[in-house]
Amino acid sequence: MQQPLIGMTLEQLRHVAAAVGLKPFAAKQMARWLYVARVTDTDAMTDLSLAARAHLKEMGYVVGREAPKAEARSADGTVKYLFNGVGDRDIESVYIPDHDRATLCVSSQAGCRMGCTFCMTGRQGFHGNLTAAGIINQVLSIPESETLTNLVFMGMGEPMDNLDAVLQAIEVLTAPWGLAWSPKRITVSSIGKIKELKTLLDTTKVHIAISLHSPYGPERAGLMPVEKAYRSVDVVELLRNYDFSHQRRLSFEYIMWKGVNDDLQHADSVARLLRGLDCRLNLIRFHVIPDSNLRPSSTATMEAFRDRLNEKGFIATIRASRGEDIMAACGMLAGKDRKAAPQP
Ligand code: SF4
Repeated sequence: MQQPLIGMTLEQLRHVAAAVGLKPFAAKQMARWLYVARVTDTDAMTDLSLAARAHLKEMGYVVGREAPKAEARSADGTVKYLFNGVGDRDIESVYIPDHDRATLCVSSQAGCRMGCTFCMTGRQGFHGNLTAAGIINQVLSIPESETLTNLVFMGMGEPMDNLDAVLQAIEVLTAPWGLAWSPKRITVSSIGKIKELKTLLDTTKVHIAISLHSPYGPERAGLMPVEKAYRSVDVVELLRNYDFSHQRRLSFEYIMWKGVNDDLQHADSVARLLRGLDCRLNLIRFHVIPDSNLRPSSTATMEAFRDRLNEKGFIATIRASRGEDIMAACGMLAGKDRKAAPQP
């Protein structure tokens, strides 16, 4: 069986080095080849002996890079990439260029088990966790990889439902022996699985984005069944224990639906719920998905909502919509089942 090297931490690479009879320092050499030189074949690791490289191959170790198998380009410059995911399920990543920023939205799972009613990924159910290799491959294997400035874990899946792989990927992304990114370039989004979110908060310095969508528990539970297990009030209480006033940023995502969660009473309740927290609110225009009665709020309603939150002292912004024409916008990702559907 093939074992990908990308996604491995330095510690894991040390084990690989030991297994093929190399000294521990060879782990750093391999990390440099994988994450700095970005080679795609172990044969290119020319400071490892020929015998060691042969041994790596015999043991099934491969770099593990896989190029995207399809892409769709939006008129606004956004590009959606399709990768092999888990089993027969593909996954998608979205590259979003924006002036001097270039952000990649990565997936952490094939499908999702959180079942949010407004999300195409949630509708397809859960098909498996990506490994750290599957996550890092999205970062390294898009054509624009070297130009990326930011990474958001907001693609398919709930990152806190695949915590180990996400933490490992963050270590590879931020470690000096890895991609050496600042954690300030990374945002992890979550519906708020509390125990896992606490671990993420305690062990990393990445920015946090919480999917809120309603300030009222019963209403949120109707949109996001996960509210029954992880109440937003408890998530907010957890977040109050952390400092978001300096380097680390906290934001709340709020998709706006016409007549559902977009009146000023909702805005006031959001302000009450989040009072005292150093946070931003991202108001997101809903993208209509098939077989859903949910409709987007009007621009005027969104602006009134934003203004009300701003009056209450919050930084609230209406997020520009990107990639809607290629089904790459928020909540629209749905990697296909290869057995069931033709590829885009
Ligand atoms: Fe999962 Fe996020 Fe979609 Fe909810 S919105 S179903 S957590 S991918």
